[in-house]
Amino acid sequence: MYEANVNRYGDMAYRRAGRSGLRLPEVSLGLWHNFGYAATYDNARDMLLTAFDLGVTHFDIANNYGPPPGSAESMFGRVLKSDMQPYRDELIVSSKAGYLMWPGPYGEWGSRKYMIASCDQSLKRAGLDYFDVFYHHRPDPDTPVYETMSALDYLVRSGKAVYAGISNYKAAEAAEAFKVLRELGTPCVLHQPAYSILNRAPEAGLLDACNDNGVGVICFAPLAGGRLTERYLNGVPADSRAGGDSPFLKKEHITPQLVAALNGLKDMAAARGQTLAQMALGWVLRRSEVTSALIGASSAAQICDCVKAAGSTGFTGEELAGIDALIAGL
Ligand code: NDP
Repeated sequence: MYEANVNRYGDMAYRRAGRSGLRLPEVSLGLWHNFGYAATYDNARDMLLTAFDLGVTHFDIANNYGPPPGSAESMFGRVLKSDMQPYRDELIVSSKAGYLMWPGPYGEWGSRKYMIASCDQSLKRAGLDYFDVFYHHRPDPDTPVYETMSALDYLVRSGKAVYAGISNYKAAEAAEAFKVLRELGTPCVLHQPAYSILNRAPEAGLLDACNDNGVGVICFAPLAGGRLTERYLNGVPADSRAGGDSPFLKKEHITPQLVAALNGLKDMAAARGQTLAQMALGWVLRRSEVTSALIGASSAAQICDCVKAAGSTGFTGEELAGIDALIAGL
C-alpha cells in the first residue's frame, strides 16, 4: 500500500494562478506521452507517485492523450484507484476537450454538445467525480466563443469541474474568452500555451493579456519536448521522443546547430549549478505571469531532476542575453 512521503511539501514552491485562490506547484506533470496503453503501468505509476512525493500536486491530462485517445485518463484512473485516492483533496487534476475524440459532428472543437459529453466521458475514464480544472483545448473558429465558454461555466456550476481554463488561444481570442467567462460568473483561472526558450510566442501579447485579466499561465512543453535537456547532446537515443515515432519531434529536428546551442546552454546551466532541464524550467518561471511549468517525462529520474528547478528561477541580465545569443539563428 502506497504511503505518500511525509515531507512532500518541504521543497516544492507553489504559485497562485493569476488572481485566483488556486496555488499550483512550480513544476506540474502532464500525461500526454508515456501514460497511454503503449506505456507500462509500473512506469506510469512510478512517475505519478514520485512526482506526488516531491510536492507535484498537479497532473494534467486531456481526452485525447494516449495512444489510443482516452487511455492516459484511464491509466491515471488506475493509479488513482490503487494508490492516490486517499490523497484526492491534495490533487489538482485537469482534463480538456477540443481535439477529435469520436466520429461525427459532435466529436471535436467547441460546441456545448461536445464539451459536456466529452467531460462526462473523461470523468468516467479517470474514475473521478470532478476535474479540478477543465479546459477548452483549442479555439474553435466556427462556434461562438459564448457557446463554448457557457459550456465551461455549466461544467463548473454542475460540479463536474472546479475551475475553467483555456488552451492554445491567441492573445485577442483569449481576452474575449476571459471577458465572457467573467461575465458568466466563472472567471478563467488558467491559460495553457506552449512556452520555452525555443518558443517565445506568448511574449507577443498573451502573457500581458493573462496578467491584465488576472489569469494564471501554465506553460506546456517548457523543455521543447525534450530538446532543452541533456537527452540529445550525444545523438538521438532509441528510447527518446525524437528516436520514436512522434510526429511532433523527429530525428531530423535534432540538427548539428541545435546540438551546438544545447551544449552552450548546458555549460551555462552548469555555471548556475543546474542541469539544462532545470535552467530551461527556471527560464519560463522567471516570468511572474507564469504559475507553473508543465513538463512531460518518461522516467521518475527525469521528474526528480526537473523538480529541483523550483525556487531557482532568477536570472541576471547577462545570463538572459547569453541564452538569447546561443539560440539566435536556430
Ligand atoms: P516537455 O517539453 O517537458 O518535454 C518532455 C520530455 O522531455 C520528456 O518526455 C522527456 O523526453 C524529456 N525530459 C523531461 N525531463 C527530462 C530530464 N530531466 N532530463 C532529460 N530529459 C527530460 O513537455 P511535453 O511536450 O511532454 O508536454 C508536457 C505536457 O504539456 C503534456 O504532458 C501535456 O500535459 C501538456 N501539453 C499540452 C498541450 C496543449 O495543447 N494544451 C500540447 C502539448 C503538451 P523523453 O520522452 O525523450 O525521455
